[in-house]
Amino acid sequence: YRHGEASEVVVNTPNGAVVFGEHQPLVVVAGPCSVENEEMIVETARRVKAAGATFLRGGAYKPRTSPYAFQGHGESALDLLAKAREVSGLGIITEVMDAADLDKIAEIADVIQVGARNMQNFSLLKKVGAQPKPVLLKRGMAATIEDWLMAAEYILASGNPNVILCERGIRTFDRQYTRNTLDLSVVPVLRKLTHLPIMIDPSHGVGWSEFVPSMAMAAIAAGTDSLMIEVHPNPAKALSDGPQSLTPDRFDNLMQELAVIGKAV
Ligand code: PEP
Ligand code: MN
Repeated sequence: YRHGEASEVVVNTPNGAVVFGEHQPLVVVAGPCSVENEEMIVETARRVKAAGATFLRGGAYKPRTSPYAFQGHGESALDLLAKAREVSGLGIITEVMDAADLDKIAEIADVIQVGARNMQNFSLLKKVGAQPKPVLLKRGMAATIEDWLMAAEYILASGNPNVILCERGIRTFDRQYTRNTLDLSVVPVLRKLTHLPIMIDPSHGVGWSEFVPSMAMAAIAAGTDSLMIEVHPNPAKALSDGPQSLTPDRFDNLMQELAVIGKAV
């Protein structure tokens, strides 16, 4: 079990320090699944910033189930994220899939994401643990809480104390109406077991944009420290995860609803 106080992860974004932690305001990370082009990433950054997000998310390297699906624009997408960071002042969160890309990702990202599919890629965990940028560790789709905490331990043991745990839904038996099963019970359970900050990603958790707002609100009611929400200027045309992406307008509404129910944004 956890000993002592909750730890805080402090991230220096261009707009100032943002702190993830139990006793801090809710941190909202928003943006598209994939960085598609300059116009869409800059527009999304502006819109989510105006709505109250402090981080922009967007994939440059995408872990797609099919090798024939859009794989992300790679290095050129990192340049676009850097541009969006400059224009908006938002912090940047993007995923590393291959340790060979880690240095160039760490140059532009404020937080480095390890995705669900790499949660137990122990050599990658050791490498993100041996560099200074904070790490967002998503829960594997079939990982127990113990597996997940041990994966976090790999990063901590390699010397990086700045780890945020992100629940993004686990694989259960119903895939007809939801993509995954968002396990909100992790919020109180992690609170008991670990000092690390908690993030909930309802977008990948449910897989359908119409269900995202309810689960975002439920996550706050459960006591999450932060949220990750996929937002795309034109979800119908998105190159990945369009069905679960909110429009900027819908995201703006959601932020207003969230402000009413609890933990101040
Ligand atoms: C993502 O954040 O776009 C992503 C691929 O997430 P996950 O690893 O949770 O599937
Ligand atoms: Mn996605």
